[in-house]
Amino acid sequence: MSTDCLFCKIIAGDIPSEQVYHDEHVVVFKDINPKAQVHLLIVPREHIISLNHLDAKHDDLMTYCMHLLPKIAKEQGLEDGFRTVINTGAGGGQIVFHLHIHLLGGEGLSGAGFSRAI
Ligand code: AMP
Ligand code: ZN
Repeated sequence: MSTDCLFCKIIAGDIPSEQVYHDEHVVVFKDINPKAQVHLLIVPREHIISLNHLDAKHDDLMTYCMHLLPKIAKEQGLEDGFRTVINTGAGGGQIVFHLHIHLLGGEGLSGAGFSRAI
């Protein structure tokens, strides 16, 4: 928990969010500025700043997130597939410095998508 972190405040319930899933490891809520019909953020409860701040003790958590993604996508009706994005550091476009995975799908998602700013 970091007291000046937006996502820690959302996880604590101090700032409202549209949650679609939560368990003891992660919280999943809707992005406030969606870039596609479905745009969710998978956020570990632990305050990890970014991929640059992972170490081996996070291996199980990250594997857990990878397995959770297709389950959440299916629940959202994304049978055809989905896109995941992790922005890392200011140079990678990260704005909120609490590790999170963007899950995007449905209408509005462009083809290859590598030039899309998310
Ligand atoms: P990133 O650039 O990967 O750090 O993305 C941060 C994301 O958080 C952006 O897509 C924002 O739209 C989203 N965001 C910012 N504030 C909120 C909020 N209060 N609730 C939900 N999503 C938010
Ligand atoms: Zn945080």
